[in-house]
Amino acid sequence: MRNEDALNNVAERVRSCTQCPLANVRTNAVPGEGPADARVMLVGQNPGSEEDRTGRPFVGRSGAYLDDVLTRQGIPRSALFITSIVKCTSPGNRRPSNEEVAACMPYLEAQVTIISPSAIVALGRVAQMMPHYDEIEYIETYHPAAAMRFPRFRSRFENDLLRVKTYVGSM
Ligand code: SF4
Repeated sequence: MRNEDALNNVAERVRSCTQCPLANVRTNAVPGEGPADARVMLVGQNPGSEEDRTGRPFVGRSGAYLDDVLTRQGIPRSALFITSIVKCTSPGNRRPSNEEVAACMPYLEAQVTIISPSAIVALGRVAQMMPHYDEIEYIETYHPAAAMRFPRFRSRFENDLLRVKTYVGSM
């Protein structure tokens, strides 16, 4: 199976998944988006309300800020695979439970295996829940929502994102 087909297959399984109680909360599961040969994956916690409404990752206010940072740094969003550790929204966007993370983890692991990126950027608290892979550079940074809200986080967040530029070239 081609990598793109394998990735689409994971996305289809995510969209119909009922492996944890968040299936009852979501409007749309959000498998993630980006090319099957992306050199960098961005991984957030789980979808917010706008992502849940549209089925797309990082499209709310923090997504707009992320897009703005990427554009200013000359990094094409379309070159990145953007997803989250848990693929469905949670009540009040609370942190997913350990059980929900465990139930959803096989999807992220499958995406990492198919894409085989050079670097993974963990956005925010998700960093504490992420598996590490020896052969993949692991970049921990703030969630865009935190960087947007707190100026003291902003420069580190933007500098951390700049590190991915070496893998994806520029616009
Ligand atoms: S959060 Fe993950 S495991 Fe739970 S229902 Fe959604 S896709 Fe399935």
